[in-house]
Amino acid sequence: MTKTILVVGGAGYIGSHTYVELLAAGYDAVIVDDFSNAEQRVIDRLVELTGHSVRLYEGDAADPRFMRSVFEAESGLTGAIHFAAYKAVGESVREPLRYYRNNIDSMLVLLQTMADFDVPDLVFSSSCTVYGVPDELPVTEMTPRKDAHSPYGNTKRICEDIIRDAVTGGNHLKAVLLRYFNPIGAHPSALIGELPIGVPNNLVPFVTQTAAGIRPELTIFGDNYETFDGTCIRDYIHVVDLARAHVKSLDYLEGVDGRGCCEAINVGTGRGNSVMEVVQTFEQVAGVSLNYKIGPPRAGDVPAIYANADKARYLLGWESQLTLEDALRDAWRWQGMLSTKEKE
Ligand code: UDP
Repeated sequence: MTKTILVVGGAGYIGSHTYVELLAAGYDAVIVDDFSNAEQRVIDRLVELTGHSVRLYEGDAADPRFMRSVFEAESGLTGAIHFAAYKAVGESVREPLRYYRNNIDSMLVLLQTMADFDVPDLVFSSSCTVYGVPDELPVTEMTPRKDAHSPYGNTKRICEDIIRDAVTGGNHLKAVLLRYFNPIGAHPSALIGELPIGVPNNLVPFVTQTAAGIRPELTIFGDNYETFDGTCIRDYIHVVDLARAHVKSLDYLEGVDGRGCCEAINVGTGRGNSVMEVVQTFEQVAGVSLNYKIGPPRAGDVPAIYANADKARYLLGWESQLTLEDALRDAWRWQGMLSTKEKE
């Protein structure tokens, strides 16, 4: 029997890629999105990519009445993925209440509605930000979580705790908490990708916008860290690989006997790359020379973090397949698509 998954935030960056991978794996999927950080044209692209119409419910995932109406209309739901969160770290420092309100309310409403309608399987978008500045590298799921540096990071940790309590409390739930490392890249078709609003905070969109001439210069935030080349180290994961980890998580949850399971799982490549390596690799794959300078460190940046991804391999049968080169090539192709659109 086809399983139907509610993709909350399915028009966003990771949600849209996951929607495509779900359909490719034989799942049926339904999208909830309020388009607060996504564009309507993503839906047309999803139709183009999958060859199917999209079942879309436009509304606020934190509104219990709206979410009830979705579950009533989609009576065959078997699981849900929660992507619908605000994610700008700096903004969360300036507007903490808006972040707590949105990210936690939408989580609570989803959990309650799943319990009410007896929908068992949940995959949650968590983040490696829950590890703070880790004492050991690579980080495993047993590495202690630390206080987050931002309200955004706190919402991830708090949501993890809420889900764990809901599972323990016998709400008939099973959950996987996917701790994302640094998602980058775009679908190889260049039909979907990240759509940063305004000046990007993240490295790769800033790199591609600089190469495209939209930004005059990239600033590398610090080159005096205790890393091999002095710049920060992250584990960059191709968004299509990350999307597949959600599908594997749902496959896993389906096979779990009984309810009450709650597994935190790192989703990274297991490799760390420095900012300078990202810049140089991008220059190679794009065949461009990037205008960059070294600036002061950015407040709150963790010097180095990358995943031990063993648990994903043995529990989910998932590991990353795409390389940093693949991801940067796809990000550049996507930037080309965006820049062409703007000129039209
Ligand atoms: N970074 C940078 N310049 C930028 C944006 C990011 O040097 O314009 C660095 C940042 O200091 C970090 C890495 O790139 O070391 C990844 O940052 P990003 O914001 O993409 O993700 P984060 O790991 O902070 O969530």
